[in-house]
Amino acid sequence: MEITFIVDSNAGKLARWLRMMGYDTLFFNSIEDGRLVDIALKEARVVVTRDTQIAKRRVAANGNVKVILSRDDDPRRQLLQVMKELNLDCRETQFTRCLECNQILLPRSRDEVEDLVPPYVFRTQTQYMQCPSCRRVYWQGTHWQRMKQALEEITADSSGPA
Ligand SMILES: [Zn+2]
Repeated sequence: MEITFIVDSNAGKLARWLRMMGYDTLFFNSIEDGRLVDIALKEARVVVTRDTQIAKRRVAANGNVKVILSRDDDPRRQLLQVMKELNLDCRETQFTRCLECNQILLPRSRDEVEDLVPPYVFRTQTQYMQCPSCRRVYWQGTHWQRMKQALEEITADSSGPA
């Protein structure tokens, strides 16, 4: 079964990293603990939080909801912890999802995005993806490369000795 997530408002940057890896990840800027846990239970999502109170809730304690409690502030170390606890490896699905709204990206031709990207990008990039919801266009620019490299470093850590 595919793993999906709900990330608590205290770990927002992690949500973007999980989406970058291709995981269906819900995130709300502000959400009550009870509602967070309800959604996790209904949709069988793994909760990632820094809030010890959530981990102590009955549904978490009895295993109906999987809670990953992160004690780390750094989203990269949070991601490493999540990957280790769940044994994740998903190089295939990287960069398939909108970082902002969690939608699956659609491939777009160069012509389709001409008016949507800066001229320099249009001249230098050939492959584009677009979010059907927020219309944001993604391409393999320097930001993307940086994130990809960081992700590779993190995944290299996770497969090495603990
Ligand atoms: Zn979007």
